[in-house]
Amino acid sequence: MNIEIVTIGDELLLGFTIDTNAAHLARELAALGVRIVRRATCGDDADSIATAVREALERTGAVITTGGLGPTADDMTKPAIASIFGRGMVLDAAILQSLEERWLKRFGHELPASNRQQAMVPEACTILPNRHGSAPGIWLEDAQQRWVAMLPGVPREMRGMLADTVIPHLRDRLPAGGPVIRARTLRTANIAESALADKLGKLARGVNGLSLAYLPGNDGVDLRLTSYTQPARETEATLTGAAQLVREKVGRFIYGEGDDDLAALMLTECATRGLTLAVAESCTGGMLGMRLTAVPGSSRVVQGGTIAYANAVKVRELGVAQGDLDEHGAVSEPVARAMATGARLRFGTNIGIGITGIAGPDGGTPEKPVGTVWVAIDLDGEVRAVRAILPGDRSEIRYRAAQLALDRLRR
Ligand code: ATP
Ligand code: MG
Repeated sequence: MNIEIVTIGDELLLGFTIDTNAAHLARELAALGVRIVRRATCGDDADSIATAVREALERTGAVITTGGLGPTADDMTKPAIASIFGRGMVLDAAILQSLEERWLKRFGHELPASNRQQAMVPEACTILPNRHGSAPGIWLEDAQQRWVAMLPGVPREMRGMLADTVIPHLRDRLPAGGPVIRARTLRTANIAESALADKLGKLARGVNGLSLAYLPGNDGVDLRLTSYTQPARETEATLTGAAQLVREKVGRFIYGEGDDDLAALMLTECATRGLTLAVAESCTGGMLGMRLTAVPGSSRVVQGGTIAYANAVKVRELGVAQGDLDEHGAVSEPVARAMATGARLRFGTNIGIGITGIAGPDGGTPEKPVGTVWVAIDLDGEVRAVRAILPGDRSEIRYRAAQLALDRLRR
């Protein structure tokens, strides 16, 4: 089945809102075995919507739109698309009643006149209930089974409606056993793309007929295996087998799968082993503490931390020796080690993590270029330190420094 997507909204054309709806639709539908053959975005005007949807319908006879279902004047998707099907608009008594009840309950007064528009629907349509908001979606279909599904713009509502109504509906129409697109992502940290390719050897270009993509980001390089041609029944086993082969080659550099977060994984690991942790951060300015405490249940592990940006603070709060700062500089092995130990002792934890580095854009020297970072981990008095020269701009270097510290904790 081929489908086109039309996302609607001036804010999308202007670039103020990133079109996450189209990306979500494409991923979910690919997994179902539906091919997205084209995507279009148009502004909030009836002519553009009608033109974009009419053209898409002529090509594929199957279109999903998002946006423009709300009560405001710029939300005109329903009448524009109804006009393509030669249908008028009618008031739906059930929607009106539920809107009125919702307003009374939530706001304690009657439905404003402008919101009555939300109860207007094309003649002879199917209404798609909205669990997460007030505007229902619409499914419009003609005698030749050409159809348009209109979903809300609000991403959470769109996702809910897709899962609740559109996907089950499409599943019924798809032939059983057709090919689906499925992917499995293995997450690596602290290893370059080229080094990964070397480790993978002849698997580097593809594994067991699956494509293999290298996706570098601030967390590290993700390895994504994708299956395009197999039916759903077989594809999970193929992906698992291929992922196993990749794991054998890449080994400990892989820390997780899918959207696993290294901070969350390390917290779980520390909690399982009954270890507590404190941080001492210079160039990352609290980012490691933020990432760790973003994880629910982190209080069992994380005791506290110090943002020791100035040298005087490193000395006063963490017990870093002034002599080490003078002799080796703030971005140095002895200072990183002293920060880690200082955090562990001051917060009374098993683990102390020290991070010090040059995030740039200024401050680099030939011996210590921008991106130079020292990370030290003190585990019950045993201290390990590592230096890295991280690529990127200031924000990338800061993020990568925190990720490096989490990766060192793992070893
Ligand atoms: P509502 O019923 O809440 O009025 P709607 O269907 O009218 O929803 P819009 O008014 O078009 O939706 O958009 C609502 C919100 O969703 C806006 O904040 C908009 O930026 C966001 N949004 C709309 N379309 C997209 C999209 N394609 N991707 C991501 N966000 C989007
Ligand atoms: Mg809108």
